[in-house]
Amino acid sequence: MLALQGDFREHLAVLAELGAEALPVRRPEELAAVRGLVIPGGESSVMDKLSRLFGLAEPLREAIGSGLPVYGTCAGLIMLADVVVDGIEGQQTLGGLDVVVRRNAFGSQLDSFETDLEIPALGEPPVHAVFIRAPIVESVGASVAALAALGDGRIVAVEQGNLLGTAFHPEITGETRFHQYFLDKVRAA
Ligand code: GLN
Repeated sequence: MLALQGDFREHLAVLAELGAEALPVRRPEELAAVRGLVIPGGESSVMDKLSRLFGLAEPLREAIGSGLPVYGTCAGLIMLADVVVDGIEGQQTLGGLDVVVRRNAFGSQLDSFETDLEIPALGEPPVHAVFIRAPIVESVGASVAALAALGDGRIVAVEQGNLLGTAFHPEITGETRFHQYFLDKVRAA
């Protein structure tokens, strides 16, 4: 669990509920010890700065490149995107997911909202999804699967190999299926 900034405590609680041994990761040595990583929601530009400051950005890129399973929610999805639109000046991502993500895509009028999403990969019932100053996935590469979209077709959950990303926050609604789906990937990796 990347614990530089954001709602990592909520994720740790879900992972513990599912029986996973989840630890906060703030240093390269801690990263080296995990078999999977969740990047929480929060503020991607701050997470970017802290990861560089703490010498974690390069180890994270290497880990992602060598196949570490990583699940990013909201700001975490932005961190995983190869390309971010509307980042702050100089904002970098870790990359790995072949997607273009637009930060704060819903603007100030609709900066938070909730909706139910049909997600075939998770089955019934629909996922109750909370979006908070959320990004949107604007385009995906050929090897990326869109797992969920809004009614207008805009993509809000993606999977590419060992990487999983959602624009919303399953960790704050009692939803555990995304984390279980991710843990299954970690076990299979
Ligand atoms: N707007 C935030 C960002 O740019 C993401 C918000 C969130 O994680 N809830 O990183």
